[in-house]
Amino acid sequence: MSQVVTRIAPSPTGFMHIGTARTALFNWLYARGRNGKFYIRIEDTDRKRSTAEANEVIINGLNWLGLDYDGDIVSQFERAPRHVEIAEKLLKNGKAYKCFASSEEIQIFKESALKSGASTLFKSPWRNADPSNHPDSPYVIRIKAPETGETIIQDEVQGKISIKNNQLDDMVLLRSDGSPVYMLAVVVDDHDMGITHVIRGDDHLNNAARQNLIYEALEWNIPVYAHIPLIHGEDGKKMSKRHGATSIEEYELSGYPARGLRNYLARLGWSHGDEEYFTDQQALEWFNLIDIGKSAARFDLKKLQFLSGQHLKNSDDAALLHETLQFLTKVKKQSLSEDKIQLLNKGLYCIKDRVKTLSELIEKASFILNSRPIEMSSDARLSLDETGLAMLEALTPHLQNATWTRKELEQICNNIAESFGVKFGKLASPIRSALSGQTKTPSVFDMMLVLGRNETIARLTNV
Ligand code: GLU
Repeated sequence: MSQVVTRIAPSPTGFMHIGTARTALFNWLYARGRNGKFYIRIEDTDRKRSTAEANEVIINGLNWLGLDYDGDIVSQFERAPRHVEIAEKLLKNGKAYKCFASSEEIQIFKESALKSGASTLFKSPWRNADPSNHPDSPYVIRIKAPETGETIIQDEVQGKISIKNNQLDDMVLLRSDGSPVYMLAVVVDDHDMGITHVIRGDDHLNNAARQNLIYEALEWNIPVYAHIPLIHGEDGKKMSKRHGATSIEEYELSGYPARGLRNYLARLGWSHGDEEYFTDQQALEWFNLIDIGKSAARFDLKKLQFLSGQHLKNSDDAALLHETLQFLTKVKKQSLSEDKIQLLNKGLYCIKDRVKTLSELIEKASFILNSRPIEMSSDARLSLDETGLAMLEALTPHLQNATWTRKELEQICNNIAESFGVKFGKLASPIRSALSGQTKTPSVFDMMLVLGRNETIARLTNV
């Protein structure tokens, strides 16, 4: 088979919907898993919405999600002359015609069809008119659609769908102001870009029938179609803000790791047996069109959180450090000193467990990120009562000479707890508070090991 070429063709709406992100991911996985090409085409013919910022939102979203693309980004608007050229070619070949009917005439046609119970699809009197009878007035170019038979859509997800041709009208290809319609633009662009597989939301299934008419009139190969069911919320209704964040940026700002979201979105409407957690490598190897489900996938935030947590936990420390620093700069507008970066690197092993997002990870790392004097949360302060402080005071001299291994630190702490007649937990709380100012942290031994002797003792004596 020839090289697979896919594309994502978003319209600039000002934000990147999670559904667009998933469609992009499916196209990316399909192409990249087969050494194919993945292109971006911005469907920017609506000039009011197509601002530079709106385009940037899409590109930033794809970049963050880690979906790299080939070639230059194609602007549909800029290709309008080519769309016009093709409409004129169809006109020349007799596959399209000039229609001079005014909108009033079309309205009258529809009203009388309604009254007589006939089809309201407009039948232009100009379809077979002799060009020598053409008036010198504005016209549109319409496709000469077949009047009988049926148009078949062979879809990899939805199966074979046939639409009777008498249900499709002679759609307009070029408006009277000479501008091409969207349906023509999509076909011409997909053809010129060499798109072999069109993977997109099933809200475009109806368009596929009309697009096929254009492909056939041009005698161009029809791409393989895979129309994927839209994403629904947990209540089974189309995913909207009501169900949670719909924009990709919100997930980025909340600290979901991009690979966690990739894993989750890949599972949203596609499956590989019972696999839930997988790597990009596995997804690239496994992804196919056959296993895309026919029914709408339901968005499940808990599952996204779970998978994100798994990805954070299994991260290689160097990559996670880089990702955390990026998140800190971009989202939290915070930059760290070299010392803090080194400390964070040292401590990641005990932080990356049991966190669902980078935001949670940063919270858990606050014992590293904060500096003396440690700001105390009101909960943390509770354990620094008289006994708590007395225990810390008794503890510090023993730490001065400790070898700073986990084993020895445990031994020392247990001895102190015993001498106060309390369980270790009672001692752990004030240590935790003094070291971090928080109540949710890695284990006190991990914190001590990461902070080192001097810093640990300084914090324990400075409460
Ligand atoms: N621009 C369309 C959209 O944003 C996609 C069209 C297509 O994939 O053919 O839904």
